Amino acid sequence: MINIQLERLWYRLFQYNQSKYADYIIKNGFSSKYLRMELKILALYYRDKGMPPKKRKAILYEMCNKYIEGFNRVNFFKLINSVVTYSSNKKNKLIDIDHILVTSTSLNYIDNLDVDYLCKKLLFGFIVFDKLGKVKWTIENEKESNNEHFFANNPSSYRNLTKSLSINKSVLRKYGYQKIYEVTHYLINKGLLEDTINNTKLLFLYNIPIDENISIEVKNYDNVGLYYDLHSGTKNVKKCENCSVPIKVKSNSAKYCEECKVKTILTKTAERVKKYRDVTK
Ligand SMILES: [Zn+2]
Repeated sequence: MINIQLERLWYRLFQYNQSKYADYIIKNGFSSKYLRMELKILALYYRDKGMPPKKRKAILYEMCNKYIEGFNRVNFFKLINSVVTYSSNKKNKLIDIDHILVTSTSLNYIDNLDVDYLCKKLLFGFIVFDKLGKVKWTIENEKESNNEHFFANNPSSYRNLTKSLSINKSVLRKYGYQKIYEVTHYLINKGLLEDTINNTKLLFLYNIPIDENISIEVKNYDNVGLYYDLHSGTKNVKKCENCSVPIKVKSNSAKYCEECKVKTILTKTAERVKKYRDVTK
């Protein structure tokens, strides 16, 4: 159980919350599935803390030795060298995006559209991922992004989007669609989106005036749809009692999001281990 939760948490943090991800690796070890990427994040993390290359290399070896069973320096020589070189390139950045803000003007705009709930949720998702992409681009390129709004029109970006919005086959069917492209096609006919060669142009975003009134602060990019559900008063969606992230609950007794649940379990385990050690001292 804890492994599944950790796995999900891992996946969630590695794209946009990399410092937090590094902290988790340092405390709990590698998830092994993404070792190269995890080493890269660690190397960038230590670089940003001001650690010179030699020391970074030493600490990476130390971490591998600690967390990888049967670790052998010779086998990892190439990998660790390439990761340290990667982290010495200033162009490579650690990505930390704590939250994305959604203004009340844009929420009102979506709420008042004459389209079904699924369309509204999809448009909400476009807003969040458009901003997320822009913030990431700004971190990577150290300058402001342009004011255009495009969403990459390829299967993997749509898969990530619909996953984060919990739009699956049965949800699509419930609203009378077979595929997500039917939903976007409908929105194209409504003049809210436009198909270009490689992108979906988010036309509707050009209609929304910029304002400073913040309505929603999105922190969990893996479950962006839940923020819109919570805003719309959907049944069985509530806030985590610890960190306020929206969660879907099966029973009323559920209180915490995955991250807070994992944290609680880890703390309890640590306490138990500590107690056990104290007794046998
Ligand atoms: Zn929480």
